[in-house]
Amino acid sequence: MKILISHISDDTRLFDLTAKKARFDIPELCKNVEVQAKVYRSGNNFYVTAILKSAFELTCDRCMDHYVMPVEESFRVVYVSSSEEEDEEKEDDIVHLEPGAVELDLRPFVRDTLLLLIPFKKLCSKTCSGLCANCGANLNHETCSCNQNRIDPRWDTLNELKKTLENAEE
Ligand SMILES: [Zn+2]
Ligand SMILES: [Zn+2]
Repeated sequence: MKILISHISDDTRLFDLTAKKARFDIPELCKNVEVQAKVYRSGNNFYVTAILKSAFELTCDRCMDHYVMPVEESFRVVYVSSSEEEDEEKEDDIVHLEPGAVELDLRPFVRDTLLLLIPFKKLCSKTCSGLCANCGANLNHETCSCNQNRIDPRWDTLNELKKTLENAEE
């Protein structure tokens, strides 16, 4: 995920980078990470606009099945020489380059962007039916007969109450 500064010019240039998933130390990553970066320099500053592509393998919170979620996200980074103070747009990440730096390393930004893409609530699909609470059948793949025979436990208290009332009336 490194771009040699000597390869960057005033004109925007396109860099295609790929990194092995193992290099990011994110267990959910199941595909190598591709980054397409547009980079140009202005004075001693380097402006990067990039799109990353990869995929996560996740476990559905509802049915416990594994599923693959492709991800694609853009990010921007500006590398500035440490002696300069620049007011950049707020959404840009700003990196102060060490004097004599010869390359830009996009990997930390790719990693941060990836981490933010892992969903908090993991669902294989919006309509996932989940597991039967009674027999554990995955209701996305099979139907079980529990629903017809089972009395919803929420009615138990009501039934108890009804019995108590009936007894009181006698
Ligand atoms: Zn599911
Ligand atoms: Zn069931």
